[in-house]
Amino acid sequence: CGIIGYVGKSPALIVLLQGLERLEYRGYDSAGVALIENGRIFVEKKVGKIRELVRSLWGKSLNATVGIGHTRWATHGEPCEINAHPHTDTTGEIAVVHNGIIENYRELKEKLQAQGIEFKSQTDTEVIAHLISKHYRGDLLSAVMEIMPMLKGSYAFAVITSKEPYRIVGVRNGNPLVVGIGEGENFLASDIPAILPFTRHIIPISDGEIVDLRVDGVDIYDAEGNRLVKDVISVPWDI
Ligand code: GLU
Repeated sequence: CGIIGYVGKSPALIVLLQGLERLEYRGYDSAGVALIENGRIFVEKKVGKIRELVRSLWGKSLNATVGIGHTRWATHGEPCEINAHPHTDTTGEIAVVHNGIIENYRELKEKLQAQGIEFKSQTDTEVIAHLISKHYRGDLLSAVMEIMPMLKGSYAFAVITSKEPYRIVGVRNGNPLVVGIGEGENFLASDIPAILPFTRHIIPISDGEIVDLRVDGVDIYDAEGNRLVKDVISVPWDI
C-alpha cells in the first residue's frame, strides 16, 4: 500500500506510474490514479499489477500536470475495481487516495447516507471524499483541516479537486508520508524511494501534519493550522 502525488509542469502520469512501481514492494492488490485533465477529474483503477493499470491507460493522451496515485492493500471491502482508490465524491470533483484505516467510518457513513449521499464502494476511505465535499467552500486546505478531527484511526491521505487544479492536500496521522521538493514541481509519497528518481530534496512529514503542495511551493501546517518551518533533507546521490 502506498501513495504518490505530483504537481508541476510535466505529465503527472509518468511520475505517478514510476512512483507506484517503486512502491510495489510494500505489497498491494490493486492500483489507481486520478488526474486533473481539462478541468475535470479523470480516474483509472485496476485490480492486479501496476502493469494492468499501465495497459488500461495505453493510448490515452493524458497531459495533466497534477495527479495522485495509489496501491491498495484492502482492509475494508474486497479487492475489486470499485473498491480500488482513488475514491471520488458524488460530484466527481474531489478524489482521494488513502492508506490505513478510518476506524469510525461506519458511523460517518451512516450519517452521510442519512443525508442522502450514495456510496459507491465498501471501503472506509470513501467517507473522506464525501466529508471533504460537504465541507468544501472553495479552499481544499480548510476543508481538510475541518474534517481531520472527525476521523479516528491511523491514516495518510492525499486529495485533489478539479476546482483548484494546481494543488494537492496531504495528511499524515499514523501512516508514512514524505514531501519531495523539485524545481517548479513538487511531490508527495509514502516513502522516499518512490520519488528519488525525481528529486533528492525531502521533507519528512510527522503525525498530525497537513501538507499544501502546489507548483510554486509547499506549506506544512500542524493540526491547529499553524504554519511550520521544516528542514529539507538532501539525500545523497549514491543511495
Ligand atoms: N482501508 C483502505 C482500504 O481498504 C486503505 C487500505 C490501504 O492502506 O491500502 O481501501
